[in-house]
Amino acid sequence: MRYCIKGGEIVDPAGGFSGSGDLLIEDGKVTAVERELEVEDCQVYDASGKLVFPGLIDLHVHLREPGREDEETIAGGAKAAIKGGFTGIACMANTDPVADNAVVIEYIKKQAQAAGYAKVYPIGAITKGLQGRELAEMGAMAAAGAVGFSDDGKTVTNAAVFREALEYATQFGLPLFLHEEDPDLAGDGVMHEGYWSTVLGLPGIPSVAEEIMIARDILLAEYTGARVHFCHVSAAGSVRLIREAKFRGLLISAEVTPHHFSLSDAMVQSYDPVFRVSPPLRGERDLAALKEGLRDGAIDVIATDHAPHTLEEKHREFSLAPTGMIGLETALSVAWTELVLEKILTKQQLVEKMSVNPAAVLGISGGSLKTGAAADVIVFDPNLEWTVTPEQLVSKSKNSPFIGRKLMGGVDGVWVNGDLKLAHGNFVE
Ligand SMILES: [Zn+2]
Repeated sequence: MRYCIKGGEIVDPAGGFSGSGDLLIEDGKVTAVERELEVEDCQVYDASGKLVFPGLIDLHVHLREPGREDEETIAGGAKAAIKGGFTGIACMANTDPVADNAVVIEYIKKQAQAAGYAKVYPIGAITKGLQGRELAEMGAMAAAGAVGFSDDGKTVTNAAVFREALEYATQFGLPLFLHEEDPDLAGDGVMHEGYWSTVLGLPGIPSVAEEIMIARDILLAEYTGARVHFCHVSAAGSVRLIREAKFRGLLISAEVTPHHFSLSDAMVQSYDPVFRVSPPLRGERDLAALKEGLRDGAIDVIATDHAPHTLEEKHREFSLAPTGMIGLETALSVAWTELVLEKILTKQQLVEKMSVNPAAVLGISGGSLKTGAAADVIVFDPNLEWTVTPEQLVSKSKNSPFIGRKLMGGVDGVWVNGDLKLAHGNFVE
């Protein structure tokens, strides 16, 4: 099938084309991008008044399969990704069984392929069983298609084990994705340690629990020459450490989530467990620093940390509820509303943070609409105004902190390898 996406504003910082134009898709690839195309025998997709982006790529998703298919499945998560404009997602290893061997990596790839929604890139565990003691089978997982390694959900606290992991991962040229929190400093904390934890009488997790691990791992990355990526950075001090390390020329990268730059610890006043997340929602000063980090390039990527939990699991008191929020279907609209409309990022920078840079971190093709690229393309309607409701979320779990929020901008069309998956907001079955 040939498609011609006509009359949209093409935003393609990696490919170089910007402004109003037409885009031709043939045989799964972008074959022409011009101010105006005259082509016959193709299905025209009217994008006038809308924006055309390379498909978004999410570095940080929990698909819960294998093990917790009651929360989410590979197919369900990959479908929710399409709804949110993500044509590629990387999934974390903390499933049951843990993705610490080639068999689980191959299983994930097979399920994703059968589902046929977003492309799924599995991330393997750093240590066996996420136990932080013995390295997982990195070589076998790399050969099976793992795009990187992470013990996400946990920090590799033993510096000697972590150093070994860095040296080993370097042999495969793959990055390590790091969840950074010192478990001793975090203690039994359930929210950010600050004004609100004091007022609410809940044990706090200090920002320094994150900063201290980021500082350690910057030093170890520098010492070993390995590539590290800092997941869901939440604290102002972390942004400063990463900015300084980049200034010294280190090959590190970092992500923030939409919930961390748009929601503060004041949300916990409601005691609603939907706002319990790891790392916790921080203070206003941190939110401002995350936005500044996105603006000046200290932070490279916006990733969701999409973490589905069932209603039953979340329906208990705040300090007993599991941590995590879903985010695939709201990320682009939240970023558009909070960053682009607030003039913190340009449209081009938004596409860099959500498509170009994540592709570079993973070392995969994508993030560009230039001729010859795989046709992973989305059409975004910046004028759509919508209020998030549980009913419209296709994710199996509905634990979104944005339910009830009014957002600007929505995903209108999505192509993966030239196949139309979402047309005018509806799935193409
Ligand atoms: Zn994490």
